[in-house]
Amino acid sequence: MARRDLSLLGAHMSIAGGYHRAVERAAAVGCQCLQIFTKNSNQWRDPEVSEEQAGIFREAMRTSGLRAAISHDSYLINLGSPDQSLRDRSVGALAAELKRADLLGLDYVVVHPGAYIDGSVEAGLHRISAAIDDIHAAVPSARAKLLLETTAGQGTNLGWRFEHLAAILERVREPSRLGVCFDTCHVFAAGYPIHQPRGMAAVLREFDAVIGLSKIRAVHLNDSRAEFASRVDRHAHVGQGKIGTEAFRRLLRDERLAGIPMYLETPKGTDAEGRDWDAVNLELLRKLARSR
Ligand SMILES: [Zn+2]
Ligand SMILES: [Zn+2]
Repeated sequence: MARRDLSLLGAHMSIAGGYHRAVERAAAVGCQCLQIFTKNSNQWRDPEVSEEQAGIFREAMRTSGLRAAISHDSYLINLGSPDQSLRDRSVGALAAELKRADLLGLDYVVVHPGAYIDGSVEAGLHRISAAIDDIHAAVPSARAKLLLETTAGQGTNLGWRFEHLAAILERVREPSRLGVCFDTCHVFAAGYPIHQPRGMAAVLREFDAVIGLSKIRAVHLNDSRAEFASRVDRHAHVGQGKIGTEAFRRLLRDERLAGIPMYLETPKGTDAEGRDWDAVNLELLRKLARSR
């Protein structure tokens, strides 16, 4: 039997103590890929990453055997804001994030599309597309690419309908510099029924028709504490939320997503038996990926 090229499985890790510490944390629990914040995600301040720090991180990646690393943008950023100063600050912050990503050798920066705050969905999508064009123009030779994340749709956040992401991809001047990050918890909370029998297959079919599965460059593997279609974003351990394991099994075994890095963003700490939660979730995912 031919061996399937399974997806790479990893997790979001803290950079406390230095960027290279995230690599050590990931390797210690058996990750094959790693997501980080390149800065404090609740502050605007952009850290200066020295060539030395970046070199240590890249060397740690090489020796660890990890095969992919990406970053997630700051929670303060809002490319859809009607407030010009917040919008400009967001564009600057993401341009700086792409520069840091290149320095660290990260492939992608996951970004929440943005919230429209007031006015219409349409105006928000227009502002987000224009802001992405400005980011691309600010760092024309950046190697790292932005990944628009599917969102839960809390408040006026856009990106919870696949059509929102398709509209942004259609409008930007350089769509080849954009991909998508598919988050299982967010898609479920947004109202896509991946928890139902054959639900994941149907939702992937819809994603393929609206956006195209080839645009998926990363997946976030989170179960949901919040109800289906609640538009509320609360991550749970795999199989311990409202989604259940079947959707994860179907996603992990999809040939069209083979080799795509998939990251846990589930709660940290240890389970009742004292086992690291990331290790527990990764073991369950690997079991699901091998099962029929
Ligand atoms: Zn996510
Ligand atoms: Zn989330």
